[in-house]
Amino acid sequence: MHSETSELKGPAIMWFRRDLRIHDLPALAEAASAPSVLPCFIFDDRLLGRGRFPSSPRTRFMLACLADLRQSLRDLGADLIVRRGDPERVLLDLADACGAGSVHWTADVSPWARKRDQRVSDLLAQQGITALAHPGNYIVDDPAAIRSGQDRPYTVFSPFAKTWREIERRPMEDPPDQLVPAPGTDPGRLPDLAELGLDEVSSVPSFEAGETAGREAARKFRNQGLESYSKLRNNPAGGSSRLSPYLRWGCISPLELEVKLGLEQAEGPRVFRAQLAWREFYASVMQNFPEVSRVEFQERYRGTLNWQSDDELLEAWKRGQTGYPLIDAGMRELLEDGWMHNRVRMVVASFLTKDLHLDWREGEAWFMERLIDGDVASNNGGWQWVTSVGTDPKPYFQRMFNPMTQQEKFDPHGEYVRRWVGELADVGDQHLVRPWTMDEPQQIAAKCRIGVDYPAPVIDHAEERRFAVERYRAAAE
Ligand SMILES: Cc1cc2nc3c(=O)[nH]c(=O)nc-3n(C[C@H](O)[C@H](O)[C@H](O)COP(=O)(O)OP(=O)(O)OC[C@H]3O[C@@H](n4cnc5c(N)ncnc54)[C@H](O)[C@@H]3O)c2cc1C
Repeated sequence: MHSETSELKGPAIMWFRRDLRIHDLPALAEAASAPSVLPCFIFDDRLLGRGRFPSSPRTRFMLACLADLRQSLRDLGADLIVRRGDPERVLLDLADACGAGSVHWTADVSPWARKRDQRVSDLLAQQGITALAHPGNYIVDDPAAIRSGQDRPYTVFSPFAKTWREIERRPMEDPPDQLVPAPGTDPGRLPDLAELGLDEVSSVPSFEAGETAGREAARKFRNQGLESYSKLRNNPAGGSSRLSPYLRWGCISPLELEVKLGLEQAEGPRVFRAQLAWREFYASVMQNFPEVSRVEFQERYRGTLNWQSDDELLEAWKRGQTGYPLIDAGMRELLEDGWMHNRVRMVVASFLTKDLHLDWREGEAWFMERLIDGDVASNNGGWQWVTSVGTDPKPYFQRMFNPMTQQEKFDPHGEYVRRWVGELADVGDQHLVRPWTMDEPQQIAAKCRIGVDYPAPVIDHAEERRFAVERYRAAAE
């Protein structure tokens, strides 16, 4: 991937994509060593309004990250050059305008991104411009290159993680002291959502975007959250790092995060490092088995699971109107905040696929529409994992989450549910898991009439669980 810096001739273009930072970014470090540098970001309509997974909340987050990055680059003496169009054409134009001899970017794993990068590389090469893909999106240089003793990609997490832990890490890169800007290029203006063909988002985000905020959030987590992480991480009301949007957009370097965990073997850092490994595992799966972006990893489940189609149930799930408090809290958190806690992601995904019997791809797409951390590899991996059709297999009946017992276990005092489902604010703890069991006076006292203020359950979990077992059993035979 790397080439010797001394080979680079003329100005270098740094093409930012999902690596929106200046700290520990190998592509930027190398571009900065050229005589001058042109940092750019290209809005590609094939990924935005016209893409497979367009998302207003995620794009809004990205725009704010870009504003922060632009400021950092200005502080270093350069700017972020903003363009819109097909990267292959825009990069050639920019290279032509500044006489660039090389273009640098951070390697990505999705099938779409890899095809695009190959196309761009080929075109640049035809013009005699060197294209260089660098590590930086993951802790190891290339998660997809991690292979088993039989020289095959891993399809089970634990052995992957064991090998992954042993892989030598690259040295961290300092941010550049200053950047010499390539001359004569109009920086361009950052567009807004409407200009990009996306709807406005009305909710106020609870995540502040950008590298500056991401570094601060990581620092706070190390000082305050890490120690208790292993105990509290499953608590939806708080306890995990909430760093996923920053990792998704590269506002923080995953390697820097790992290095700063230190080498101590305390429980918090150990368990946290394992979560970071999941992210790298799914990147490896996506790159080695690109077909998973469309179909089930396990062939026996392709086209055999008899998914149902019910727009009303799908809509109730999306809007947080299922009558199951934990499900509704999670889906409303997603709607309003563009994020959801991991435990709840698992429970709502199980509910969609194993209680409502709706296709996991419906859930995958909805998550991608709303999540600010929406990541093709992690999201697909998470959905296939919960649906029991992906890598890291466990029998399907071991991954059928009961929304009521999950709530009892992980939100016993209703802190999370009451926060997101306002109608349940006055429902007492004894009824909060099954509000439909309140009698009429209790409903009136709690200002929560079932079927009026808050929905009755849209399905019966025990019944649907039995049906799901039959469905999976039939498919697996
Ligand atoms: C159905 C489903 C869909 C998901 N979609 C996404 C997605 O689009 N983007 C995304 O980043 N994560 C996704 N996840 C994984 C996980 O839910 C989030 O990474 C996590 O909730 C983020 O919260 P956190 O930063 O507080 O996590 P922490 O618990 O603090 O973990 C630290 C970091 O490790 C990584 N991580 C943790 N768990 C996982 C995991 N299971 N898979 C991959 N990476 C993980 C994330 O980058 C996370 O920020 C999904 C999980 C499920 C079950």
